Amino acid sequence: MDKELLHEVFRREMNDRKIPLSLGKTCPVKCAFCYEKDTSYRTTFDTPLTTQEDWEYILKEIQSYPTGTEHWVVGGNEYMEWTDLFLHPRAMNWLNEFLETTDKNITLFTVGYTPATEINRLAEKYPGRINFELSVITLGSYRKRLMPHGPTVDQVLRILDGPAVTSANFYSLGPDTMYADAVKISHVNKKCLLWMGCLTPLKYIDRDTTMLMRQGKKFLPREAKKIYEANLSNTTMIQTESDITAFLNRNKIIKTFDACELEKKDTVVMAGNVYKVMSLLRKNRARYLYVPNDTLGGDSNCSTLLTFDDVGRRLTNEKRAYLPKVIMEGSSGEEKDISGTTFDEFKLRFPDCNFKVLHKVNSSLSNKKLYEKGYLKNYVEDYLGNPLHKKFEVVALPN
Ligand code: SF4
Repeated sequence: MDKELLHEVFRREMNDRKIPLSLGKTCPVKCAFCYEKDTSYRTTFDTPLTTQEDWEYILKEIQSYPTGTEHWVVGGNEYMEWTDLFLHPRAMNWLNEFLETTDKNITLFTVGYTPATEINRLAEKYPGRINFELSVITLGSYRKRLMPHGPTVDQVLRILDGPAVTSANFYSLGPDTMYADAVKISHVNKKCLLWMGCLTPLKYIDRDTTMLMRQGKKFLPREAKKIYEANLSNTTMIQTESDITAFLNRNKIIKTFDACELEKKDTVVMAGNVYKVMSLLRKNRARYLYVPNDTLGGDSNCSTLLTFDDVGRRLTNEKRAYLPKVIMEGSSGEEKDISGTTFDEFKLRFPDCNFKVLHKVNSSLSNKKLYEKGYLKNYVEDYLGNPLHKKFEVVALPN
């Protein structure tokens, strides 16, 4: 790749506070649940394996950024392929150098290729600067099937056994999966945040994996109740299912839409999770235009993950439509969706429709609400314990 273009891609990533390391085009780990394979929803640049020369350029650029409270991210590039960047043979050296030569904080996303002793030593040396999000996925018998090339259970447990890991995510896949993992993880790490729920089947996921994910969803209530009753010492346990979070925050969702001063005939775009809340509890407040997450497909039903293309497919002859701000909070403060399409490009496709943005329906609100009411305890007590959840679950989505 031409050096000028490569540096341009690096700068774009760094503008989003990503540390633009690369392993090359495709991720060698090939997890069956991966949402980021090359068949994915966004186009990426074919950047080569990061060299020492590239790193020197990157570090110099990063050093020129002012230090704020934000974290620089390893893993989760926007314009480059996703992978586990700790597979890069120089990744730990560069992480060391970053921590030594800058005063910036860092967030690491990994499925567990980070060397255990070294990352735990760094966490001790630089307390408070490393936010380490470990994707455990599962430690049980489905691990081989979902992550045939993933790190071993022993490796993952060694990383967990120390001060480095800030949060561990893992999922329900059937009886005694999420529960068994919670007990095992809590046994070696009593402090880290436990982040759990289901893996969502998207259209790129193969049939068997989809069935396994759906089985996990069926067993989620049982798994969650068992964890709730186990009284683990990890104080922060969050569930990640978007429809459950929407239900738990239903009053705030209704209030937010009420505050948008909509007329009954106004068309308001929303995905399945919010549509279910509004059509059950605020019927006819406006004309709710249900938009399926077609770009991601499968069982996805989250407004944050809608794309302009999804919205475009559902518009008919509307003269005016309201769009939640969350759709266009893709990155960099630009009005872009998760696939990279800008709001301006979208508007050009529908010159006869006047689009209004519901600024109050934004991702900082949804993140805030997730941390307020998204706890496993809320799920068990206020969702499963509330008979209304049964009505919510059977709300039919329009065709
Ligand atoms: S390691 Fe991450 S990017 Fe690579 S296949 Fe697994 S989930 Fe996908």
